[in-house]
Parts: sequence; C-alpha cells; structure tokens
Amino acid sequence: MEILTTAPKRAMAITPHPDDCEGGCGGALAKWVKEFGTVAAVVMCTNGNKGTGDREMTSEKLAATRVIEQHNASDIVGVTDVVFLGHPDGGLEDTLLFRSQVTREIRRFKPDLILCIDPYRSISHTHRDHRKSGQVALDAAFSYAWSYQHFPEQITEEGLEPHRVEQAFLWGGEEPDVFVDIQSYLDVKVDSLGAHVSQMSSDREQRLERIKNNSGRHKEKTGLDYAEGFRRITFNLGSLDWQLMHR
Ligand SMILES: [Zn+2]
Repeated sequence: MEILTTAPKRAMAITPHPDDCEGGCGGALAKWVKEFGTVAAVVMCTNGNKGTGDREMTSEKLAATRVIEQHNASDIVGVTDVVFLGHPDGGLEDTLLFRSQVTREIRRFKPDLILCIDPYRSISHTHRDHRKSGQVALDAAFSYAWSYQHFPEQITEEGLEPHRVEQAFLWGGEEPDVFVDIQSYLDVKVDSLGAHVSQMSSDREQRLERIKNNSGRHKEKTGLDYAEGFRRITFNLGSLDWQLMHR
C-alpha cells in the first residue's frame, strides 16, 4: 500500500461515460493539476446518450448536452484536453477501431500515466462499457501504443510516434493499493460531478455526503480522512527496448 505524494507529468483518463472520470479520479486529477502542474486529458469513449430516465429526452439531445456538461466538469477539475470518441452508450465493443482510437490518443497526448476503470472485478459486477473501456485502455497502453508494428499508419501518415505509458491507475477495483489524499479537493469533486446536470438527482449536500462516505472508507487502511484509491499496474517494458530502438 502506498500513499502517493508525487504526481505524473501528464495524465490521461480513459473513461466510458461523462461523469465517470470525476467520480473515479476527479480528486486526484484536480490535486495533481493544482499542486504539481500535471497536464491532464480525458478521453470520453461514449457519448452517454442513454443516461436518462426522461422519456421526453432524445438520444441526440442528450449526447449534445453531455458534451457541454463534460467540458464544464473538466474545467472545474483542470483537465485541459477533452476528447470524445462518440461511441453509443451501452455499445462499446472491443473492436480494432476502438483500440486504434485509444492508441491514437495515447500517442498524441503522451501520458506517463493512464487512469481507467478496473475491468477485472472478480466478486462484483460493473457496467459493460466500464469493462470494455478499461480493457481497451490497458491494451492500448500496453502494448499497442509503444510498438511501431501496431497501427503503423498513425506513424507513417499522421506523424505520431510510439509512446510508452509507464503506469495505469485503475479505479473502481476491489483491492486498491495506491491512494491519493483528496481532503482539500472534496469541493472540486462535488462541483465537477454537479456539472453533469442531466445526471444529477441529488442536491449538493447529498452528493458531498456520498463522496465523503465513499472516499472515507479507506481511512482504516491509509489513515487518510478522504482518499481516492487505485489499483496500480506498472507496464514492464524493459525487455522490449529493442522494439523501440530498431524501427
Ligand atoms: Zn459509466
């Protein structure tokens, strides 16, 4: 178990729906941006166009609304690079197209760290898009993005270069092992979630209470009143250097 006191230079959250990022890692991103000068990106895999119980709302209108809401939420967190891949909500598939899109964004933004939803829960279930986006994010980071052999047209035609992501932080997993103290960022988290107006049925106080309960549950383990917890994966690319050296 580690309580993180450093931050990545460049962090990219790869996330299925508008609002997942703020709920999963919004506190950590806000802290890193403000205290360490981290440059942060969000890749939004779906357009979130099914996220409503309002029968009067159309999918098209909801998708457009959620783009605006995501920009507002990202502004509050301090995320400066927001990308929408536009897959249908509930329709994410682990396809060549999706893998190439995420690989492209990694090669373009060059994150040291990616953050995504843990796709490997064993004792609980999560939304299909959450599993698919987590799986594809990890596969894109290791091993597609670093290898010339994968999606070579991005290199020869689009001017991108292979990129090595060092680590992934997975949120929503069952056994987090690295924690970020977000005590000073509860307001940022609650306000950035509140920016997703179309998704909010609770008021600010209720949201804050929920966030406190959620981020307070690691206290016994970490000693931190409020923390976001992640499972860390370190990509061991050491033995693969020749792939990068020999084009
Ligand atoms: Zn979601």
